[in-house]
Amino acid sequence: MLVTLSANLLFVNIFKICVICVLKKLKVDIFLLLVANKVVLLGKITDYFGFCGGIQSCLLSILLFIIRLLLPRGAITYRTKTLNVAYMSRNSNIVDCGFRSVISSVCELCEWASAERRSGKRIGLVPTMGNLHDGHISLIRQASLECDSIIVSIFVNPMQFGKGEDYNSYPRTLNNDVQLIDGLGLECMYRVFVPEVSDMYPDGFNSVVKVGGVTESLEGKCRPTHFDGVTTVVLKLFNIARADAAYFGQKDYQQVCVVRKMTADLNLPIEIVTCPIVRDQSGLALSSRNAYLTDQQKKQATSIHQSLLLAENIIVNEKCRNVETITNAIKNKILNADNAEIDYIAVADPITLNELKSIENHKKIIILIAAKISNTRLIDNKIISIQ
Ligand code: AMP
Repeated sequence: MLVTLSANLLFVNIFKICVICVLKKLKVDIFLLLVANKVVLLGKITDYFGFCGGIQSCLLSILLFIIRLLLPRGAITYRTKTLNVAYMSRNSNIVDCGFRSVISSVCELCEWASAERRSGKRIGLVPTMGNLHDGHISLIRQASLECDSIIVSIFVNPMQFGKGEDYNSYPRTLNNDVQLIDGLGLECMYRVFVPEVSDMYPDGFNSVVKVGGVTESLEGKCRPTHFDGVTTVVLKLFNIARADAAYFGQKDYQQVCVVRKMTADLNLPIEIVTCPIVRDQSGLALSSRNAYLTDQQKKQATSIHQSLLLAENIIVNEKCRNVETITNAIKNKILNADNAEIDYIAVADPITLNELKSIENHKKIIILIAAKISNTRLIDNKIISIQ
């Protein structure tokens, strides 16, 4: 059905314009077209005829949103942004995406990026797994400030999930993500790169990028194949985009260290930019996995950030230099919350990530924590300057 619609795009567009003109004459605001009981067209007249601000447009959008939610699973909805065409299924996978900003083919993205590069643009890359929140947005904004053209990749990379991890249940909210980016009003050129797994890892794919040393502790110990998956996909993205700079969050501190090491070891011509952790009002570091937490668990999870603040206080104000005292204080704070379990607490050198026995003679340290609240595994960290 979808393929047929795509093949007949011209026909669909002519048909669409005729239908919309008639509807507009009839002063209809929202339309829903059913063919064989399937929704094939769903839209708002104002989508087609320029931007209509004000409360009417707002109410129409809310109504459309509710109708889309109520659609049966698998229903085909057709929505537009001016004359762009997007066929979507109810389960959020864009089948044939007409968002002007989205590229889903590896080849097409290579071509787009090459053309940008040829015209002298500085290209920024923001790799993500989607389900975008303000943490991701901060990376996108930073990239847009420093680059002429940016690529935001959204790819839930199967290779970085271990057996029994949450690859299948990882939140996928592609339509919202694209709309969120489109709504940022970025002044630079941008594309959202949403490759298929089969395009990134075609049949016969048989390579792994393995960084030693920095991958072996902390996350690497708890999730033994994780960083191989990260470095493999990140190098692929670097090669596809051939960006000048790539933006990563300090939230995944060890990941940035691993990417920096790979970049240095392999002489990759790309600048790695680290952006600060974005937190919610309670201090909880934003993460797509926070979606797994109930409100009660979110409150409990704030103990992770509070324990980092407590450690900072002990070090900076109480001048404590004993690593065991510091980690015990963190442990007690986190374990005070119900259903909390600690994977690791590490006091480390921020460059090498080597764990420290004493913080005497160190000007800067980092504390990294991984803990589970109920079954949700969360990570957080804090860099602390010592006078
Ligand atoms: P993810 O989609 O979880 O793979 O994250 C994509 C990028 O966003 C990574 O570089 C993360 O470190 C970064 N990121 C995730 N959460 C945050 C946050 N709360 N603050 C800043 N950056 C973040």
